[in-house]
Amino acid sequence: MKSLIAHARSFAAHIADSERAESFRALQAGQSPEALFITCSDSRVVPSLITGARPGELFELRTAGNIVPEYGGGHPMGETATIEYAVRVLGVRDIVVCGHSHCGAISALVQGDDLSAAPAVRDWLATQAAGASVGADLADEVQRHAVAQLDRLRTYPCVRERIEEGLLSLHAWYYEVHTGAVRAYRPGGGSRTFGPL
Ligand SMILES: [Zn+2]
Repeated sequence: MKSLIAHARSFAAHIADSERAESFRALQAGQSPEALFITCSDSRVVPSLITGARPGELFELRTAGNIVPEYGGGHPMGETATIEYAVRVLGVRDIVVCGHSHCGAISALVQGDDLSAAPAVRDWLATQAAGASVGADLADEVQRHAVAQLDRLRTYPCVRERIEEGLLSLHAWYYEVHTGAVRAYRPGGGSRTFGPL
C-alpha cells in the first residue's frame, strides 16, 4: 500500500508539471465518454491500458465475473444504475463487455468450486451467472458468458430503446491477461466466434 499512497500523494504535482495539465483542467467541465466498458474486477484487466482511453473517455462498470445483473428485481442495484446513467444521461454510443483469460469467477463456475467461505460471491454467481457449464473449457466459457451479458443488456429498457433507435451498439471482447491480446465477438462467425478486433 505504501507505494500506492506515495504515488497518490505526488499525483497532482506530477500532473501540474506535465503536458497533460490542460487536459486535466478541462475535465471539470464534465464528461463525454465514448463507451461504457463493463469488465471483471480482476486487477490484471486495466481498461485504460487496453484501449488507450484518457480520463473522460471511458465509463466503467466492474463486477466479479463482468456480470450484468438481471434488470429489475425490486430493489435498487448499483450496476443497473451505472448502466442506465451511461446510456440515458451520458449517451454512450457503445457498450463493451470484456471477459478475460484466467478469470477466477468463471473458473469457479466451471470447476464447481466450493465458495462457502465467500457466500456473497457464491450467491452473486449462482443467481446472476446461471448457465455456466461445469467442466467446460475456461476460455470458451468466458467467451460464451460475455456474449450472454449482451443478451442480458438487451433486456434493459434504456439499452433496448437506444439500440432500436440505432444509437447504441453492443460488443463482447475477450482479453488475455498474459499477452494483451484482445479478440471480439463476431455474430454468426461459426464455432470460433471470437476473432481479431
Ligand atoms: Zn475475472
